[in-house]
Amino acid sequence: MQAAAPSGARLCYNTPMQNHRPILRIAPTPSGYLHLGNIINFILTRTYARAHGGVLLLRIDDMDEARSKKEFIEDIFAQLDWLGFDFDAGPSSVQEQLQKHSFKYKKQSYRQQLQTLLDQNAAYACGCSRKQLRPYGNLYPGFCRDEGHQLRAGKSAARIRLPEEKIVLGDRELHPAKEYGDFILWRKDDLPAYHFASLLFDAEAGVDTLIRGEDLLFSSAAQLQLAKVMGKQRFVQSRIYHHPLLLDPRGQKFSKSDRSVSIAQMRQSGYTKKDILTLAARFLGIEKQIETLEGFLGYAQKLQRFYT
Ligand SMILES: [Zn+2]
Repeated sequence: MQAAAPSGARLCYNTPMQNHRPILRIAPTPSGYLHLGNIINFILTRTYARAHGGVLLLRIDDMDEARSKKEFIEDIFAQLDWLGFDFDAGPSSVQEQLQKHSFKYKKQSYRQQLQTLLDQNAAYACGCSRKQLRPYGNLYPGFCRDEGHQLRAGKSAARIRLPEEKIVLGDRELHPAKEYGDFILWRKDDLPAYHFASLLFDAEAGVDTLIRGEDLLFSSAAQLQLAKVMGKQRFVQSRIYHHPLLLDPRGQKFSKSDRSVSIAQMRQSGYTKKDILTLAARFLGIEKQIETLEGFLGYAQKLQRFYT
C-alpha cells in the first residue's frame, strides 16, 4: 500500500495555556472497524501526550445507540491492545465500557444540563421537519427561535440560541451563526447530539488539548461557542489542533465502510504490527521502520508541524 503525502500542512490552534499537564483523549466511535486513518490520528495524539508529560484518556463514543455495536467495541480494544496503546484513564475492557463508561450512563446528566440551557432561554425546542429545512441546506433559518415550543422526545429537537460572534481558530475565522445557524444539541430521537455530548464529556474529564482532522473545524467552533455559553472555562481555553486530512491510497478520506483499510482486515492479510506502524509513519512523513508506538517519540520534533 502506498502512502499519500498529507496535503499542505495547514494548522489551527486556539489560545494556548501555560505550564500545565495537558489532558488528551482518543475517541473512537464503535460504528465501524478501526481503520488506518483512526490509527494515524491516535498516534499523533498519543505522541503529543507522551512528549508533553500529558494524560491520555480513552473515550468510546457510543452515544449513537442505533449505530454502536458491541462487535466494534471489541474491535477497538483488540486493535488498540495489539498496537500497544496505553491509557491513563477510561475503560480497560469491553465489559468496563458497557458496564461503567457507556454514554448511556451520562445521558440523564446531559439532559439536565440541556434543561438548564432551555430554562435560561439559551436553547429552544425545534419541531421543524427535515423536509421543511431542505431548501436551506446547512443553514438553519431560525424558524422556531421565538415559538416557545416544548421539547418532546420524538417530536422536537433542541437547538442552541447561537450568539452572533465569530470564532478564531489559528489563522481561520469561523462564523457558525452565519454558516450553520443554531445547531442541534439534543436530537429528535431523544439522544444528545455529537457537539453537545462531546463537549460535556471533555469538560467533565478536564480534556484541554484536542488533536483532530481539519474536517472537524466546524465542530471545534461549535463546541467552543457552546463552552462559552455554558461557562466551561477550561475548554474555552483549550488547545485545539487540526491536522490536514490524511487521504487513503486512492486519494480519498479514510472510510470505516472500506474494509481494505481496517486494521482487522490488514492483520488478516498478513500485516504485522511493524508493517502497520511503518505505514502510518509514512503517512506522517517519516520514512523509517517503526516497531512500537514509543518509536514515534523520537520523531516528536518532526511531527510538530501537525500541532503548531
Ligand atoms: Zn425549527
